[in-house]
Amino acid sequence: MAVQGADVLVVGSGVVGRSLAFALTEAEPSIRVVLAGDTGEAGSGGGAASGAAGAMLGALGEVTDLAVRARHGRLRIELAVAAASRWPAWREQVRARAGATAPQRDGYKTGTFMVLNAVSSGLDDASFAAVARSAAEHGLPCHDMGPTDIAGYRPLENDRALRAWHLPEEGFLDARAWLATLDAALAVASHTIRVPAGTLTAAPGGGYLLDTPAGVFRAPRAVVAAGAWTTPILDALDPDLPVVPVLAAAGTAV
Ligand SMILES: Cc1cc2nc3c(=O)[nH]c(=O)nc-3n(C[C@H](O)[C@H](O)[C@H](O)COP(=O)(O)OP(=O)(O)OC[C@H]3O[C@@H](n4cnc5c(N)ncnc54)[C@H](O)[C@@H]3O)c2cc1C
Repeated sequence: MAVQGADVLVVGSGVVGRSLAFALTEAEPSIRVVLAGDTGEAGSGGGAASGAAGAMLGALGEVTDLAVRARHGRLRIELAVAAASRWPAWREQVRARAGATAPQRDGYKTGTFMVLNAVSSGLDDASFAAVARSAAEHGLPCHDMGPTDIAGYRPLENDRALRAWHLPEEGFLDARAWLATLDAALAVASHTIRVPAGTLTAAPGGGYLLDTPAGVFRAPRAVVAAGAWTTPILDALDPDLPVVPVLAAAGTAV
């Protein structure tokens, strides 16, 4: 099979891969991007974590005490705060390309509550306090409030919240609707080719090869945005790459 040329191979088409492909084509419309993974068509996969995501669109809601003690944890919070401030401009840029099919506005900065309930441990106390400290460090509002003042909050008697924060700048987003918006915006970018997942290898003589059911592609640059699969893909390319592992996680939300 003939090898097709491209400028950038993006491996993984969750929210990160799709956003990256869109940003590249916006910055340089003639750039040829191959975006490998879920192709956005019905039945082609759900985008893994991106398709499963809840609704949180914020920077503080998942700050933990352990995170703020580690350099990478603090960097992640800084990144989240910066990303949140850029969200409105980014959202409008993507929506403008997606056109009339773009879903309605999201719940950016509509606020949320964080409760510290009775069924918790010292770890939860510490993380609850860390959220307020991080908010103060980044100049974001975090108000102490009585949990009983949260409209609609009716806990079991022995499982009720003892304290609560109101975080007015946190928000919500329909993750599936946002993926669809990115798909519509990408469909307009004529130099972006969407292909099913493939195998990325270093090409002899430099650059990268991506072998997919839709063909083999070669480019001087590759970006691995494969979520929890990123680490094994990078390990197969070069086990000595100095990158922080990407790990899968599980959580519970109300
Ligand atoms: C249950 C759940 C709830 C969450 N809730 C929230 C929330 O409320 N708010 C929030 O901000 N975040 C939330 N997250 C986290 C958020 O969803 C992730 O951080 C984000 O979606 C990661 O996007 P990604 O593009 O990096 O990875 P993914 O969405 O996992 O995409 C990676 C893609 O790469 C593909 N892939 C793997 N190997 C290859 C290969 N060889 N070639 C091509 N493609 C490949 C995968 O199939 C997948 O489609 C939640 C996550 C989960 C799981």
